[in-house]
Amino acid sequence: MARFSDDFLSELRSRIDIEELVSSYVNLKKKGRISQGLCPFHTEKTPSFTVYNDTQSYYCFGCGAGGECITFIRNIENLDYYDAVQFLAEKVGLKMPIEQEDDGLYVLRKRIYEANREAARFFYNNLVKPDCPAYEYLIKRGIKPNTIKRFGLGYAPDSWDALTRHLRSLGFHDNELISAYLSKKSRTGSTIDVFMNRLMFPIIDLRGNVVAFGGRVLGDEKPKYINTSDTPVFKKGRGIFALNLAKAHGRSLILCEGYMDVIAMHQAGFETAIAGLGTAFTTEQAQLVARYADEVTLAYDSDEAGRNAAKRTLSIFQSCNVKTKVLNLTGGKDPDEIIKRFGKEYMQKIIDGSLSSTEFKLAQAREGINTETADGKVEFLRKAVDVLATVDDAIERDVYTTRLSIETEVSKTAIEEQIKRALGRRKKQQDTESFNKARQLLEGRVSSARNALKIHAQNVSIRARQAEETLIASLLHNPDLYKKLEDKINIDDFSSDIIKRLFIIISERIENQQELDLIFFANELNPDEMAVLTRFLQKSRTVSNTLEECLDCIKVMSEEKLKQSVKDPTELSNEEFMRLFYKKE
Ligand SMILES: [Zn+2]
Repeated sequence: MARFSDDFLSELRSRIDIEELVSSYVNLKKKGRISQGLCPFHTEKTPSFTVYNDTQSYYCFGCGAGGECITFIRNIENLDYYDAVQFLAEKVGLKMPIEQEDDGLYVLRKRIYEANREAARFFYNNLVKPDCPAYEYLIKRGIKPNTIKRFGLGYAPDSWDALTRHLRSLGFHDNELISAYLSKKSRTGSTIDVFMNRLMFPIIDLRGNVVAFGGRVLGDEKPKYINTSDTPVFKKGRGIFALNLAKAHGRSLILCEGYMDVIAMHQAGFETAIAGLGTAFTTEQAQLVARYADEVTLAYDSDEAGRNAAKRTLSIFQSCNVKTKVLNLTGGKDPDEIIKRFGKEYMQKIIDGSLSSTEFKLAQAREGINTETADGKVEFLRKAVDVLATVDDAIERDVYTTRLSIETEVSKTAIEEQIKRALGRRKKQQDTESFNKARQLLEGRVSSARNALKIHAQNVSIRARQAEETLIASLLHNPDLYKKLEDKINIDDFSSDIIKRLFIIISERIENQQELDLIFFANELNPDEMAVLTRFLQKSRTVSNTLEECLDCIKVMSEEKLKQSVKDPTELSNEEFMRLFYKKE
């Protein structure tokens, strides 16, 4: 892991205001010396995400996420430590320190970015060569040369190793190319290209790096698409195609299903079009989009597969609190086809008349039902009520209830009664879901460190936990206490490895007379550990910070540790046995 000097981190800290930084992602409300908003790391309805100006930190009382500016960027932008620091440094115009040559991963990532850029150039040059089959394909599909250039499209030639040989000639090693997922080992052991005879779509991240490629066949061969697998610079299920271009054109984005749709849309002037990367849309992708969009319009295919995908994607966005609409694509299968057949003005009309997601769902509920018959009416009403029960906004719900009443000629009160019941059912279901979600959050994303803490929390008495938290909180607040306590603290009395580690890192910094600001710890702690440390820091507001309190904590810790370990006094070591007496004095 790259490390940065305290001097550099201090400079970074002085130029960044945590409140301002967080504000560009979270709607914060000032409340005296703190500000609060809805946590971007878990789904909630009442704000428990708190930003502290004095310590330049944040902490969520809902999910336990916490840290300083670097950890915040690591989490919210999905960046690693080095990239998060670079992200912030760029933001405030701070020059990065000289690159560390010894950091293997950093060097590899840099090489992969370079290899990808060279590969994109190579693919493009092949595409614009005379008689390129992919070029003909694009022109036939109505893509203009300017658009090809804008998206950096390319062609992977019909050859086993044209790209591999080309990149080797530029000084890249086979292992770098394999790490980049540009090359792979063949069965005979030679290094060959991953992409052959394919139309190439480069995936470009928000910082302008080529991070991956999608490769499409020109005919009907299978698989239709090959995409870059996970590499040190790319995680599947995270990237968004064309977000780098779209984000400059407004906060109302149009989500398409395929790369070709996006390209056709941009060419027709709809420059806020984006797409996932061919696989099912993920929550991580929705969260990424949510940062750049207040509203997302789904322009999915009008066939059944497309409608089902739209439904799934809608619910993902709803859980991220993003307003969504679904385009009613009439006259063609997908945006590409519609633009080609009827022109961009027609497409604009479709976009202007976008169905709200509720209308879309109601239309779906109505599908295949003859609402002229009494049975049909009941069947439709039943489904429609379930749909309306998912509408959170009471006014919107009322509007649709009125419409539904007119359409079915059933009294509005009767429909309202049914919705109320469905709402009750839904609430119960939601409670279970949010409980499960919170658990998943703890178990999944919040990896080993927090898990360890959880296990620790189960095994260790509250009394012990409070004592060690208070002790560390006091040290953070008043490092001078350390000198007087140092000899009395038994490192093994801490209840878990993380807490032990935090204590060691803190005490080392105190011994070296280094500052204890959160930002300096980001060098060594992962986001989960940062969250724990931040919790201690919050606690330091409530501790008395006296030597007496600390001594008391140390005593409690050792008593509790002993209690925990004592099953049978004969199992105690001599030393432990002695301590048992010592404590009782
Ligand atoms: Zn949270």
